Amino acid sequence: MRENRAHLSADEVYTMARQELPNISLATVYRNLREMSKQGLLLEIRTEGEDKVRYDGFTKPHYHFKCVKCGAIYDLDPDLYEAEMDKTVSARYGHTVKTHQVIFYGICKKCSDSEKSH
Ligand SMILES: [Zn+2]
Ligand SMILES: [Zn+2]
Repeated sequence: MRENRAHLSADEVYTMARQELPNISLATVYRNLREMSKQGLLLEIRTEGEDKVRYDGFTKPHYHFKCVKCGAIYDLDPDLYEAEMDKTVSARYGHTVKTHQVIFYGICKKCSDSEKSH
């Protein structure tokens, strides 16, 4: 999960995990995912139009792009992440910022390329 940088829901993780551990329960998967995100090994992402949480094994602060056509979620490089913004919020409001999430919505390159080729 960490290598392919997918953004899987608990159900998808469950489906994958069952191929190796046929007896694993969905509850166990949920518990492990929650535990791992508590320990900072996974990021939880919630996007518009979806009530399920997705898990991201790439834990450096980064932004996401979500294609409104195919639903794919792409990572944007961490150098686009405004670390200064966290500091500004802390300085201006006195809140301690641990992380922030921004998600861009639009049509991904794959979808717009396939539209052009038809
Ligand atoms: Zn797309
Ligand atoms: Zn990500």
